[in-house]
Amino acid sequence: MKDIHAVFNGRFDSLGNIKISPLSRAYTFSDSVYEVIPFYNSNIIAFEKHILRLNKSCDSLSFCADIEEISKEITELIDKSNLNDGYVYYQISRGVDPIRSHMYEEDISIETFGYVLPHSFKSKNLKVMLCKDLRWQRCDIKSTSLLGNVMTMNSAKEKGCDEVIMHKNNIITEGGASNVFFSDDDCVFTPKLSKNILPGITRELLIKEITAKGIKVKEGSYNADDLLSAKSIWLTSSTKGLAQVVEIVNQKTNLEIDHKLFKECNNIFTSNFLS
Ligand code: PMP
Repeated sequence: MKDIHAVFNGRFDSLGNIKISPLSRAYTFSDSVYEVIPFYNSNIIAFEKHILRLNKSCDSLSFCADIEEISKEITELIDKSNLNDGYVYYQISRGVDPIRSHMYEEDISIETFGYVLPHSFKSKNLKVMLCKDLRWQRCDIKSTSLLGNVMTMNSAKEKGCDEVIMHKNNIITEGGASNVFFSDDDCVFTPKLSKNILPGITRELLIKEITAKGIKVKEGSYNADDLLSAKSIWLTSSTKGLAQVVEIVNQKTNLEIDHKLFKECNNIFTSNFLS
C-alpha cells in the first residue's frame, strides 16, 4: 500500500500515509460520489465523459467541487504512477462534520481522495447469478452508497460467481458493477437508462461505436425471460471492458461462447479504445 500513488485534499502522498477523520461523512453516511477512470497505453479513456459524470454526481448531492482542479489531480496521479495501463479511483465526499448528524452544516468543505492502480484490460469470461435488485431509487448517481450491490455480489460469490445481473419488478436493471447487454443473432439489447441504472460510460461508448458500424441496438425494458432466451450476454464497465457471461447459475448454461455479435462488438470496442 505504501507505494500506491494517492492524493487527499489536494496533497499527493502514498496511500498508506493518508488518514481520514472518523467524522468524515464518507465514513458515517456514505455521503460521497466517485469515479473509476481507466487509462490504456497512457491515454485516458473518455476522460471528459468521466469528468462530466463526476460533476453531475456532485450536482445531484449539492457538493461544491472544483472540477477543473480535480481533473488536474487525476492526470497528475497518472503521470506520477508511470503506469501505462490502469485506472484512477477518485472520491468526493461532503466533508467532515463537527459531530455526526444527518443534516449537514452548510459550511463544511468537501473532502477529496484518489489513488491510481495498474490494471490489465484483458477480457474475462464471467459466471453470474440473477438476483433481486435491493438498491435505492437513485442508482443513476455514482454514489459510494453501494450496500445493495455489496450484499448481492457477496451472496453470488458464495455460489462461485464473479458478478450478478439484477432485476427490479421483473425488469432487468444492471450488473453489480456493470451494465448488461445481450443479443440474439441479429440485434443487441440493453436496458434503457433510468433512475434504476448507472449511465455507464462503456455502455455509451459501445452503443455509439457499434451503431456507427451498422449493428442494430435496442434500448428498452427487458424481463428475465428476454435475458434467458438470449444467445449471448455480456457486461460492460470501465475496468471490465466487455466481459462475456458464460453461465447464469441454475438458470442458463446454453450460452454461445464467442457468439458472432459479441465478437464483433468486442472487436469494435477493443480497436477503438484498447489498442
Ligand atoms: N453500473 C454499476 C452499478 C457500476 O458500478 C458500473 C461501474 N462503475 C457500471 C454500471 C459501468 O459503468 P462504467 O462503464 O462507466 O464503468
